[in-house]
Amino acid sequence: MRAVQVREPGGATVLQYQEVVTPEPGCGEVLIRLRAAGVNHRDIWVRQGAFGGFATPRILGSDGAGEIEALGDGVDGFQVGQRVVLNPGMACGACRFCLGGEQPSCAKFRIFDGTYAEYAVVPQTNVVPMPSGLTFAEAASVGVPFITAEDFLQKAGAAPGMTLLLWAANGGLGLATLQLAKRRGMRVIAVVRSTFKQTDRLRQFGADEIIRWDAGDDVLSEVMSLTQQQGADMTVDSLGQATFEQSLEATRRGGVVVSVGSTTGGLVSFELGRLFRRRQSILGAYLGSSAILPRILPLFARGELVPVIDHTFPLEQADQAHEHLETSSVFGKIILEL
Ligand SMILES: [Zn+2]
Repeated sequence: MRAVQVREPGGATVLQYQEVVTPEPGCGEVLIRLRAAGVNHRDIWVRQGAFGGFATPRILGSDGAGEIEALGDGVDGFQVGQRVVLNPGMACGACRFCLGGEQPSCAKFRIFDGTYAEYAVVPQTNVVPMPSGLTFAEAASVGVPFITAEDFLQKAGAAPGMTLLLWAANGGLGLATLQLAKRRGMRVIAVVRSTFKQTDRLRQFGADEIIRWDAGDDVLSEVMSLTQQQGADMTVDSLGQATFEQSLEATRRGGVVVSVGSTTGGLVSFELGRLFRRRQSILGAYLGSSAILPRILPLFARGELVPVIDHTFPLEQADQAHEHLETSSVFGKIILEL
């Protein structure tokens, strides 16, 4: 099969589109013929070596949708040809966290890599039927961003009337967070780069206030004036180094800062008293419960949630897809089609 893999960490040029051995499904596993793969920032971090180097070549990609090509022994409830979506959280399935639906806290938890390929093998527990009314590209756009956002909003106690400060609101995770927060009745202050032009579309998705920002700009004073000098109830920060201190300052006493990425770098320093004296919480977010994807996919089929795709690329242009995500002000997801 054709696949995009990496052998060494680096820039987009280390992505290699080449022929590799097609995997075969073992006991309890399903072989999926992928038709679309979602590109996530995590793929870029894996490519850069943030999770370590590669002992063997690794195929990237955690989100994907396609058709079942073959079933391993013991698989039931699925049929060859059925349209399915991959649920990217892999865990032991037997510990107290897995049994309690808290798979990301399982000691064996990992996020699947391998959807930048014509075929992928996954356990049947990671296969979710794809609702009709969605394209493969749309179905592949949901997984990581919506699972992550739904999980952290729930854990952080999102509730009607609360104010959410949302950095990078125009990205895949940002739009997922915006849509899910509005369903929960939150007021959303969306922050976007000054180069981002589509603020009207952001308002269509429910952004109540929009702050345009560039590195070094003071977002804090604008947030304080929009919140009667109290700060946001919750702040979602996927940017990290460039913004995290402002996130703490712009969040009210007793509020929550969700750390869900570090696209501008991962080293931050702040005076701890600013955290404990103001009784704030920091919540680390990394995917979420395996129960979320089967629950929310039907909401897309019914039009209650909207998949937003910025751009699609053919699989062989995965390097261009990564460059686009790294250098552009996207609106929604980047998808690879195959
Ligand atoms: Zn487990």
